[in-house]
Amino acid sequence: MTEDATIYYDDDADSTVLDDRTVAVLGYGSQGHAHAQNLDESGVDVVVGLKEGSSSREAARSDGLDVTTPRNAAEQADIVSVLVPDTVQPDVYENIKGVLTEGDTLQFAHGFNIHYGQIEPGEGVDVTMVAPKAPGHLVRRNYENDQGTPGLLAVYRDATGGAHDTALAYAKAIGCTRAGVVETTFREETETDLFGEQAVLCGGITSLVKTGYETLVDAGYSPEMAYFECLNEMKLIVDLMYEGGNMEMWNSVSDTAEYGGLTRGDRVIDEHARERMEEVLEGVQDGTFAREWISENQAGRPSYRQLRNAEQNHEIEDVGADLRSLFAWGEE
Ligand code: NAD
Ligand code: MG
Repeated sequence: MTEDATIYYDDDADSTVLDDRTVAVLGYGSQGHAHAQNLDESGVDVVVGLKEGSSSREAARSDGLDVTTPRNAAEQADIVSVLVPDTVQPDVYENIKGVLTEGDTLQFAHGFNIHYGQIEPGEGVDVTMVAPKAPGHLVRRNYENDQGTPGLLAVYRDATGGAHDTALAYAKAIGCTRAGVVETTFREETETDLFGEQAVLCGGITSLVKTGYETLVDAGYSPEMAYFECLNEMKLIVDLMYEGGNMEMWNSVSDTAEYGGLTRGDRVIDEHARERMEEVLEGVQDGTFAREWISENQAGRPSYRQLRNAEQNHEIEDVGADLRSLFAWGEE
């Protein structure tokens, strides 16, 4: 950690600030089901808000939670945790904004809609973020195992003077302060999250894999070999990096792999790639990406569908499906 990083643990949070307050959890998907159940088991008063007819209603009820409409839930609550998909949050907000009162807290797990102005809460409302750095099923599983999930905390607006304390208590109740919660801002969380998933994680890694695969296959090597080398082995390498950083990986591979990688890696991800990454980051920072994605959704996602189909139709998908069905590692 850099010196100026602030990290909060259980002892930094005062749970009593939630004692006389009700939390409405809107949405019961990945994050929603985990936050709602963890809050409930931490002794916080929880009500789940879901549309009538939502298939998640039954799940929330059978988990022992009270369920009502998003608007009713928000009306009953002092803290409204917005855990529906980012693309539908502005509509859900329009539906509940009339019942938010001064001193309420609007709580998010990602900053997109606040940072890009898609939701503009009234002046008297605290706006906070507690974002676990893991999918919801892990947030839930860790909590059940008396473990924590690292998270981020940010305050966009502190109308009451207590926004930070509220967010910390919320983070404790879902188990995040057991592991550690890092202070950030809505801007930093949103921009780093989008850049990471575009350039490195989701976009970067799949393009690297596909281009490597195509290079081998175009040179006459078998698709199966190309799949093993470029996609399947990725997991072994990433597991080592996750465990102990890049050095753990370099220390574990052969000297030949290490020398080859150290001399060739930067030839592939070169200055040109760095410039493209900087462009991607600029598009995140100046709002170009956000505007594009918002209008893509308004238009019914035509490009998204097309790109998804192209990805599905890439040869690597068929090769992978066949190989995974032949090998035991596909059956986990
Ligand atoms: P999700 O897609 O898993 O679940 C959303 C839930 O919202 C659905 O299960 C449903 O109950 C409800 N919903 C769906 N459409 C709706 C509509 N039109 N109106 C009302 N309710 C609707 O969502 P998620 O992945 O849990 O994301 C929730 C928030 O958490 C987002 O802001 C996301 O960025 C953030 N987040 C997600 C993760 C993750 O790993 N999934 C991690 C950190 C933060
Ligand atoms: Mg992310």
